[in-house]
Amino acid sequence: MKAKITAIILAAGKSQRMNSNVQKQYMIIHGKPVLYYSLKAFSDSAVDDIIIVTGEKEQELVKETIVDKYGFDKVRAIVPGGRERYDSTFAGLKACQGSDYVLIHDAARPMINSEVIERAIEGAMQYKAVVVGMPAKDTIKIVDEKEYASKTPPRKNMWIVQTPQAFDYDLIYRAYERMLSDGQARRAITDDAMVVETYGDAKVKLVFGDYLNIKITTIDDIILAESILKKIEEN
Ligand code: C5P
Repeated sequence: MKAKITAIILAAGKSQRMNSNVQKQYMIIHGKPVLYYSLKAFSDSAVDDIIIVTGEKEQELVKETIVDKYGFDKVRAIVPGGRERYDSTFAGLKACQGSDYVLIHDAARPMINSEVIERAIEGAMQYKAVVVGMPAKDTIKIVDEKEYASKTPPRKNMWIVQTPQAFDYDLIYRAYERMLSDGQARRAITDDAMVVETYGDAKVKLVFGDYLNIKITTIDDIILAESILKKIEEN
């Protein structure tokens, strides 16, 4: 029987680093909302179902102005997220029980493409837990609280991680349950792979993403994403 693959698109963030009253996932870039681009990429992929996680007050708006408007018919549910990113991920995981594999993706990464999604799916099937990322181009320094360099890890071992992060469903669900019952560790969680690294039963494999798969965080990234999308369209 064919494995069931679900994508969870996280769009419940408040965009606090953006200095804008419009959240980054709804800003218009190249004529369409940021969230549109991830939905389009996953709709055109081998993924069977899509779950969107939004703020509580935005479910209806997202349905009308994005999902229905552009006819994204793989979207099975639009569910409310939570205070932290990991709360939103867990809300998404609960909404897709019965999946075999799950790809968790930030709506704030509109430059995601079909090759990267395909590598994430294949990786999940082979390794049970994969993260897409790219080797760091810059040297990375670990700093102390006063911003003095305390360590310089070898650059060849440094990767910058992106999304999607893809997992065997039962593995990530169990890891999340363990993490959520461990109040102490929660605060440090910044991505889903960390949950598996700390509470899961599999090692996390890194596979190649794309240097263009940037995360929109500040207004500069909007300008960058807009120019990349224009360039892609011209080619
Ligand atoms: O804040 P950050 O850039 O790390 O957010 C990454 C993604 O996670 C964004 O797409 C954001 O909408 C989503 N998020 C979420 N729920 C939160 C925080 C972030 O769905 N509580």
